[in-house]
Amino acid sequence: MNGSIPGHSRSRMTSRSAATSTLFPEIYAVLTILPLFFRVVNLLRRYDGDRHIGIHPRWLARRFRRAITSSMEESLDARAPQRAEQVALHRDLADLVERLSGSGDRSDPLVEATLACVEAALCTWRASTAPGTPPDRERLDEASHAVRAASVALRFATADRRADRPADEGRPHRTNSSPDVSATPGSPGRTPQSHLEGKMERSEKVDIVIVGGGMAGLAVAAELSASRAADVVVLEAGPDGDREHYRWSADEPTAMRQWLDPTSDPHFWRPYATDGVSYAGISGLRRRMGGRSLYWHGVTLPIENWALESWPVGVTHDLTAEWLGGPSLYHRVSEELTKWSGYDITDPPGTGRRIAFGDYEFGPVPQAVVSRADGRWQAYSPLGQWKDGGKPRLVPDCRVLGVIISDGRAVGVRAETESGITEFRADRVVLAGGTVENSRLAIQALTEVGWLTEPRLPGLVDKVVHGFNANFDLARLSPELADAAREHSYGITACASGLRSNTFLALHVNPHGTAVLDAWVMGEQIAGEAAYVEARPAPAWPWPTSVVAGLSDIDEKLRHAQQTELQRLWSQFLDAAGADRQPLAFAPEFGSPDLQELLLAPKDATGPTEARTYSFQLGSEQHEGGTTPFGTLLDDDHQFHGVPGMYAAGPSTFPRSGAANPALTILALAKRLAHRLS
Ligand SMILES: Cc1cc2nc3c(=O)[nH]c(=O)nc-3n(C[C@H](O)[C@H](O)[C@H](O)COP(=O)(O)OP(=O)(O)OC[C@H]3O[C@@H](n4cnc5c(N)ncnc54)[C@H](O)[C@@H]3O)c2cc1C
Repeated sequence: MNGSIPGHSRSRMTSRSAATSTLFPEIYAVLTILPLFFRVVNLLRRYDGDRHIGIHPRWLARRFRRAITSSMEESLDARAPQRAEQVALHRDLADLVERLSGSGDRSDPLVEATLACVEAALCTWRASTAPGTPPDRERLDEASHAVRAASVALRFATADRRADRPADEGRPHRTNSSPDVSATPGSPGRTPQSHLEGKMERSEKVDIVIVGGGMAGLAVAAELSASRAADVVVLEAGPDGDREHYRWSADEPTAMRQWLDPTSDPHFWRPYATDGVSYAGISGLRRRMGGRSLYWHGVTLPIENWALESWPVGVTHDLTAEWLGGPSLYHRVSEELTKWSGYDITDPPGTGRRIAFGDYEFGPVPQAVVSRADGRWQAYSPLGQWKDGGKPRLVPDCRVLGVIISDGRAVGVRAETESGITEFRADRVVLAGGTVENSRLAIQALTEVGWLTEPRLPGLVDKVVHGFNANFDLARLSPELADAAREHSYGITACASGLRSNTFLALHVNPHGTAVLDAWVMGEQIAGEAAYVEARPAPAWPWPTSVVAGLSDIDEKLRHAQQTELQRLWSQFLDAAGADRQPLAFAPEFGSPDLQELLLAPKDATGPTEARTYSFQLGSEQHEGGTTPFGTLLDDDHQFHGVPGMYAAGPSTFPRSGAANPALTILALAKRLAHRLS
């Protein structure tokens, strides 16, 4: 960003051979941005001074000039692409423009000015995405701040119009030209959102606020209702709709699309940018009351002892040995799920078919599901507890922007609803928004109290998963395997402990009558510093959040061991099936870009096929966790060491995740947390 624009630009242009691809964006940037820039400056001049805006217009103008010039400069720079952030920024911008255009009087010069600012920022973004112009982080920061400044200006404008009061009341007082709305680490009592006060519409007091109405949040709330201990409210960013599991309400093709092409699901939500392929694709939240408890597949496995050894002794004891002088938490939850589903989750090997070949023996997968005659099924959701109404109160369409801190402790949250900003004051705040949103909220709060030196939380893990599928002639399979396919069998076996993985195997018959074998190995990713959630401090909540993830050396070892294990399984299955096929061939890169096609291909096969291998990109297994773990961040009461009164629920709290799927542990820990809160 240093140096004169032309000099900087030319030197870069001559140093690169692809001059033609960089010339176009320069012209593009100048032509599209400059007229808008002058329009913004002219409008702002008419409002010079602090009279109406609350942010000094000269500051805004300066800010935009810098954003625009740096955009021009950086449009010629081919450093590290940040495509995902661009997309996130574009979405924010589009959102803002939409809100602006619906925000009332366009003839109001202030709204007009703000709109122009946004348009300028949009142009900045567009210029940066023209061919051959990968942007870099600083340029994106500039554009992002510009948008946020425009957003703040709009808030003041709309608050002024709505409020029947003197112009200065309810608005932060500023005496200099800088809009000091950023977080102030270590300044108890002052929240970084004071600039939102102009838009504050409501404030209410409860005992406990739960952020997120998904698997973890609802499970905690459900337990609290049983204890009747407190006035509890669950704030969920998404709507409260039909409350049905997606496999119950949609037919098979629609459900498969919602899983593997989640953009077809209106509830799909990824409120963070991603770096590369990890945490992209099918990875994301489902923003609706119920969250991913309306999407999960019901597999309920306890975390293995070899992983729990890294957990605090007290928590492990409660999960596996005994809790409050009675059965362990795992046992209690398994019993409840057994009662709900009618399937004995406490002793799955005692129920159902086993699949055996070579030296493999697969027992039934414990699943908290119920099915109906037409083949549709649903997995357990704690949301079922509210089917006849009841408590605690669920508040849909309410996104929590940040945790309010006073005197170093959590005293509530500030949330955005369709009608404006609402403060929920509470003695205790439970973060249950999924691992990445939990991390963002924690980073904001921990930064404010000065507990974090960098606004990032490491330790992010998902699962390492490889698999393959292939079609077989049903008539040529051994009778045992053919029967297993006809019965649509689903089995699991634990790998040798060094592999930190489970192997799953599913056999069924496709609509064309061919047998389908699908086998996959799911193993533990080890937490480290290299995979993290980062939230960049910004003038307004929510801070822009990004996920950085990849496989470490130790994960790479696991990956190759999994491939060897699958190769072994494949050859033993072929022996048992009396078939002769090629050995498995794995792609060199991790994370199949064509996962959807690979997983759907067996459905359409009309005869035997060679095996197709696949691996799930990090994040797509939806087992993300590990960023707010017991021990380093949480005490044994699930409470943040750095912010008393703030708690966390869900897989973000796992110090190690093992090979197991997380839901059983999420539900078990929800019981424990609810007991601590009541
Ligand atoms: C297709 C699929 C199959 C799966 N199968 C299994 C399985 O068989 N076994 C298993 O153990 N796991 C499975 N999982 C994973 C499991 O569903 C998740 O681990 C679990 O739901 C995570 O629970 P959570 O409460 O942390 O997150 P979620 O259930 O995603 O809930 C988070 C909720 O918080 C809301 N929220 C987020 N931020 C905010 C905010 N700022 N303000 C207000 N609300 C907010 C979200 O909208 C969401 O509703 C599966 C997942 C998917 C998608």
